[in-house]
Amino acid sequence: MIRKVLHLPDPQLRKKSLAVAINEVKTGKYKRFICDLIETMKANDGIGLAAPQVGKLVRIVIISTKSGPLALVNPVISVRSWRKCVDEEGCLSVPGIYGDVKRNTSLKVKAISADGARIEFRARGLFARVIDHEVDHLNGVLFIDKAKNIKSAENQKKEL
Ligand code: ZN
Repeated sequence: MIRKVLHLPDPQLRKKSLAVAINEVKTGKYKRFICDLIETMKANDGIGLAAPQVGKLVRIVIISTKSGPLALVNPVISVRSWRKCVDEEGCLSVPGIYGDVKRNTSLKVKAISADGARIEFRARGLFARVIDHEVDHLNGVLFIDKAKNIKSAENQKKEL
């Protein structure tokens, strides 16, 4: 089911999301919700989506990868690279607005997979950028809080 993506200034986007209990991840309720998030991300041509963007304050994000959509439950960034880089970002919840955001070039991430398994991996480049952007959503932080050179434009890329 495609869900409605909330836009600023919806107050839900500024709240902190709550962790999901590990034994609940595999229940039908969360399985369906993760499917909804993936469908909603695809329908909006996004490359990432966080649960609070559809108004549900739980710590679940979807990241688009070369091998398909990846769901991360309770993601934690445990290590951040010293090196940072700047790239242009947009957000499905802040339509038509873009800006340059400085983020770490690589991250170490711990999370629970959609199958309820504990996973840990390293992310680099755009993959790391999307994860950092989506984890920010779980804390009520939006890219415009960090962006420089904010501009409005039509038909840009990389909405997360
Ligand atoms: Zn976003």
